[in-house]
Amino acid sequence: MKVSDNLYIVGGGDAGFNLSGPIDANVYALSTPTGIWLFDVGLDAGPLVIENMRADGLDPSDITHIFVTHYHADHAGALGYFRETLGDVTVATARDVAGYISTGDEVANALGWARDLGYYPKEFRLSPCNVDLELEDGFQVQSGDVTLTAVETPGHCAGHFCFHVSDGSASYLFSGDQVFVGGKILLQNVPDANLQACAASMNKLASLEFDALLPGHAGFSLSNGRRHVEAAALRFNRIGLPENLI
Ligand SMILES: [Zn+2]
Repeated sequence: MKVSDNLYIVGGGDAGFNLSGPIDANVYALSTPTGIWLFDVGLDAGPLVIENMRADGLDPSDITHIFVTHYHADHAGALGYFRETLGDVTVATARDVAGYISTGDEVANALGWARDLGYYPKEFRLSPCNVDLELEDGFQVQSGDVTLTAVETPGHCAGHFCFHVSDGSASYLFSGDQVFVGGKILLQNVPDANLQACAASMNKLASLEFDALLPGHAGFSLSNGRRHVEAAALRFNRIGLPENLI
């Protein structure tokens, strides 16, 4: 689904626009002068994401980079499929969790545990995917006039990143599960969720300038997206808690 001149949403499940599998996080595609950048890949509906891209007039073989906000399976589960299907693509994840993704570690990312609780389909298994680019805070990639900056935002889990992208006329924050429309957050009963890290990350995001907020679930804002970050930061800074997404 085309969102703006160069931005598309090509996947997402029950908590979003039902463009692909029910559990899939939102999958965004950004067309840049040197190729397409994908943000997250969903759980297991890779073929539907590819189909959606084609329907939008995008050629999946133009994907040069996949930027992963975090290692939870609803965002990163389909990485193995994309690696196999696309071959030559740069997969970028946090340095801290790259080893878990490249070995398909279902313990480290709590997938096995969450699957036992019924959160993921019981038959789903994580495919390992080599990581080409291990992200650290402040890492930048350029494509013509498009600049991506990786912003480390732990809290939802360890090794969570948001991606700030500016193309000279518009700017975006791909926020994964750090912040959602309405200033909501997503802290879950998982071992590496960290409330105070989430608050510190929110204040870090509040210092950034951007137009569109593009979260990993539910809706998005194309303009004045900062208001959602500011609302969440305000709650935290009054020693309270923003509302949780689920
Ligand atoms: Zn998620």
